[in-house]
Amino acid sequence: MLIGVPKEIKNHEYRIGLTPAAVKEFVTNGHQVMVENNGGAAIGFTNEQYEEAGASIAAGPETIFEKAEMIVKVKEPQPNECKMLSEGQTLYTYLHLAPDPTQTELLVKSGATCIAYETVTDRNGALPLLAPMSEVAGRMSVQAGAHFLEKAQGGSGTLLGGVPGVAPGKVLIVGGGVVGTNAAKMALGMGADVTILDRSLPRLRDLDDIFAGRLKTVFSTVDAIEYYSSKADLVVGAVLIPGAAAPKLLTREHIKAMKEGSVVVDVAIDQGGCFETSKATTHQDPVYVVDGVVHYCVANMPGGVARTSTMALNNATLPFGIALANKGPKKAMLDDPHLLNGLNVHKGKVTYKAVTDALGEQL
Ligand code: NAD
Repeated sequence: MLIGVPKEIKNHEYRIGLTPAAVKEFVTNGHQVMVENNGGAAIGFTNEQYEEAGASIAAGPETIFEKAEMIVKVKEPQPNECKMLSEGQTLYTYLHLAPDPTQTELLVKSGATCIAYETVTDRNGALPLLAPMSEVAGRMSVQAGAHFLEKAQGGSGTLLGGVPGVAPGKVLIVGGGVVGTNAAKMALGMGADVTILDRSLPRLRDLDDIFAGRLKTVFSTVDAIEYYSSKADLVVGAVLIPGAAAPKLLTREHIKAMKEGSVVVDVAIDQGGCFETSKATTHQDPVYVVDGVVHYCVANMPGGVARTSTMALNNATLPFGIALANKGPKKAMLDDPHLLNGLNVHKGKVTYKAVTDALGEQL
């Protein structure tokens, strides 16, 4: 199969669909790969590295979209990319179609087979192609929080780890899933005093086992949120209610009651945010202050560490990508119901229920 990897064209998107190491896997499996000129250059993956891995370099996206049987990307295709897709081609990337009628319509029109990373499942019902980005965002959340706690960044001037003779900073993590667990690892690594809230008792039991007494697990109630947020130097918002907007767990009153110069990082901002005072920000302008509390609400945190994120994403997407190439999309999906769950658009029809439910009459 001929696999095409165009350069990402969304504003400030430096990730790329395949790393040189992933290209080598496809080539070793007997496939050809075409990568757009300088597609990975911004994150240190040069044309030479791709050529060494066995890829050919295409001058622009047109050749790739014209010739490739499968296109591997990171972000949803932009309108001009959708228009270059055609029937018989497979698109393998994040799509997030439910809130995006324009893209959905263009993909339906293209006739292409479109597989969305975010709806591929695993045997536990989890979303294995979303998890790596949650791992990245969770780890970044504490790094960002620690940075903005510095006085010159608008914070209270608190060092999360403290020093001998000075107590560490207090970190409250609301939501103990993938983001929350990774945030906890970083915060503990820095030496902070960490508390995690979750609504799921089984999850709290797991966290208690994993961290073996190094952090406090607390059942998430309004009372607990009120108490722990008023004491915290850093609050990380990491909740998810699948298929729903994030609940506003920290109200304006809770924010007002926090210490001057404390920091809140709302990782759940891509689902609307779990603090009442959150609004989405960018890597160029990541923070703003409400009632003396610094808010960091970057909606695409993994894009800030595009090199690590590209490698982490490839580790998760590669096995499914190789199956699609080796068996052909149809057999690969019929053989694997979890990959089939990724199918969102096929031959001019939306094939994913949540997308038709969300867009229904607009299609
Ligand atoms: P997850 O499903 O692994 O974990 C979510 C956790 O929230 C679960 O353990 C659940 O029990 C808990 N929860 C639900 N309601 C709660 C409540 N009222 N109080 C406390 N806990 C509650 O999800 P995840 O992968 O960790 O993702 C968390 C959020 O981060 C999602 O909104 C996701 O979209 C977002 N995210 C954002 C970025 C970004 O760049 N901003 C990147 C990756 C993920």
